[in-house]
Amino acid sequence: MRAEVIAIGDELTTGQRLDTNSQWLSQRLTELGVPVAFHTTIGDDLDDNVAAFRAAIERAEIVVVTGGLGPTADDLTREALAAATNTQLVRDGESLEYIRQLFTRHGRSMPARNEVQADFPAGARPIPNPHGTAPGIEMSVERKGGKLCTLFALPGVPAEMFEMWEATVAPRIVQLQPEPVVIRHRRIKCFGVGESKMEAMLPDLIRRGREPRVGITVSDATITLRITATGKDEPACFTAIEPTVATIRESLGDLVFGEEDDELEDAVAGLLALHGLTIGVADWATEGLVAEWLERACENTSQFIKGEVNRSMLQTDAPPHDPAMAVALAEAIRQSTGADIGLAIAAYPPDFDGPGAQVAVAVALSERTRKLRFPCIAHPAIVRPRTAKQALNALRLLLQQTGSIE
Ligand code: AMP
Ligand code: MG
Repeated sequence: MRAEVIAIGDELTTGQRLDTNSQWLSQRLTELGVPVAFHTTIGDDLDDNVAAFRAAIERAEIVVVTGGLGPTADDLTREALAAATNTQLVRDGESLEYIRQLFTRHGRSMPARNEVQADFPAGARPIPNPHGTAPGIEMSVERKGGKLCTLFALPGVPAEMFEMWEATVAPRIVQLQPEPVVIRHRRIKCFGVGESKMEAMLPDLIRRGREPRVGITVSDATITLRITATGKDEPACFTAIEPTVATIRESLGDLVFGEEDDELEDAVAGLLALHGLTIGVADWATEGLVAEWLERACENTSQFIKGEVNRSMLQTDAPPHDPAMAVALAEAIRQSTGADIGLAIAAYPPDFDGPGAQVAVAVALSERTRKLRFPCIAHPAIVRPRTAKQALNALRLLLQQTGSIE
């Protein structure tokens, strides 16, 4: 059984409003074990709506529609559903009375225009809307070949839609499933190579049709591997996912830094806490990003010590990109904060302009300062976060290797 989610409204297709309903509904459907195969967004146009409904009914067993159930002339879902399923609209006395009472409760009389909200394609069932005038619509539609598609149309107003989903639609979908299934995910976070290189390191895991399914997404150089399993309940899914996680960890080694919502700074914060080490940061190249991220990640521990370094504290005349400058900076911040570790990030030129831009990272720890230099190859808009991540990753690897830091 698979689903299609349809969002309707000119405000969506013109980009004035973000279609958050489809995201929310897809998360809920997935949790119920119904994979979502299609998202469709359509403007307020009758023919387009009819065509989209017809296509959805033929390719999905569950269709969830939001929007277009209001009382005004641009709300066309009722009409389009009747046309798509070759049925007539029939006024439902009970729904009409309910809408009328809703107006009475608010001390108003019902405008004639709202009567259409009690119209349903023949054979459809109303879905109660406890806080709005637009009831939803549930329809069973026979597809070519005799199979059934169940379609739910809900109002676009997110709060009403959420409420109706929980009270009526979700329990109905559970009923419709031949046997109970759920879908669960686990996310493994990686950093250090590009996505195609990573795929090559994973033995046939990204192949479509594999169970559990493995997906790969990249955001600002952080790679997320998402493992998805379908099973009879949550423990069954996580048991099915486990061997794939083990294979990923074995294949990628140090490239894996965390799971779920972990970021690189969380991995570093964890390692600092593990080793009982404190850190001071001088990040000239990233304008304080590394310090900001690390401080937040260390919020509940006292591992991060705030501090600053100015040029007069540096015992070097080295140019800014030179690792010698980063070393002096790391040693100065370590001294001025009294932390166990001084981390410095310097760049040349400081605005990262030009193809030859370089970053130098230095980690002052006990009697030794380690240094590292790498080119910055990134779009100007993301060069700072990218550099911050590279620096945090270098520190993470060092802290991992130095299991027994003296
Ligand atoms: P409608 O049911 O089409 O009258 O939509 C009512 C209101 O709900 C719209 O004006 C939007 O503000 C909001 N809305 C409709 N569809 C969506 C959607 N897909 N995502 C988020 N908000 C929506
Ligand atoms: Mg609308």
